[in-house]
Amino acid sequence: MDIYGILAFPASHSLSPAIQNAGFKTLGINSSYDFFEITPDKLEEFLSKVRKEKIRGLSVSKPHKQAIMPLLDSVDKVALKIGAVNTVYLKNGKLIGTNTDWIGIEKSLLEKTEIKGKKIVILGAGGAARASVYACKKNKAKTITVLNRTLSKAKALAKEFACEYGSIKDFKLYKPDILIQATSAGLNKKEGIKIIPEKLLRKEMVVMEVIYSPLETKIIKDAQKTGAKTITGERMLLHQAVAAFKLWTSKKAPFKEMEEALNKALY
Ligand code: NDP
Repeated sequence: MDIYGILAFPASHSLSPAIQNAGFKTLGINSSYDFFEITPDKLEEFLSKVRKEKIRGLSVSKPHKQAIMPLLDSVDKVALKIGAVNTVYLKNGKLIGTNTDWIGIEKSLLEKTEIKGKKIVILGAGGAARASVYACKKNKAKTITVLNRTLSKAKALAKEFACEYGSIKDFKLYKPDILIQATSAGLNKKEGIKIIPEKLLRKEMVVMEVIYSPLETKIIKDAQKTGAKTITGERMLLHQAVAAFKLWTSKKAPFKEMEEALNKALY
């Protein structure tokens, strides 16, 4: 049996095992996707185990997405550009790091809107924001503006990706077609955090959220009230997982069954 798993700390809340095991089961693949809850000080030791036991693939989440990079045999161009590895696969005995978060963003957006030619504002300047910028650039957005609480981080990201930047406080100056909420503000907070005043959200916007706990964040609820199209964070989770599944198995992922397993785990 081939072993895969989610490498994170904590990991027990992860929905990835439900999604990936549904994929394996549907295709009759004799593989198991497990939880690997590993603290940062045990990461190197864990990777020795991965090599020894020939674990075939990992999803990588907080806090290991950057720390794992120098410990792998190679990291591909996409992950280097985004600056984080969220997926590891075994190829010819080597552990390779890549990033499928940008695919999660891209596919989630494309379910509801075109990206090409659109004015895009991305809130945040961390890993999820970097994956968002990458996805929007690749899909030829008209303009991409990164707004962050800490301006210096937005400036550095914008310089690296040749896009615009500013402070979240100045959101009113922008009238995006697509707004991507890629900060961690409001994560695991039922009551949510107001990151953008409700009155600045418009019906014509597509509002995407990367957080999926809670599923309906403050910005998603506010956007829904205005009649805007919304995209909740579990779509990104699903699409990045499907991309990883394809990479690991070289098979067409059973999207519907993986989606159903995620929704069952969520609701
Ligand atoms: P990082 O820690 O790299 O970045 C966090 C970002 O959030 C920073 O820009 C930070 O701003 C900003 N931020 C945090 N708190 C606040 C606040 N109260 N007000 C304004 N800005 C704030 O995190 P990631 O980019 O890795 O992750 C961001 C979110 O994306 C997480 O909630 C994570 O769960 C989610 N995610 C979802 C995925 C999915 O599949 N759906 C995949 C990956 C991530 P500053 O620079 O000022 O500190």
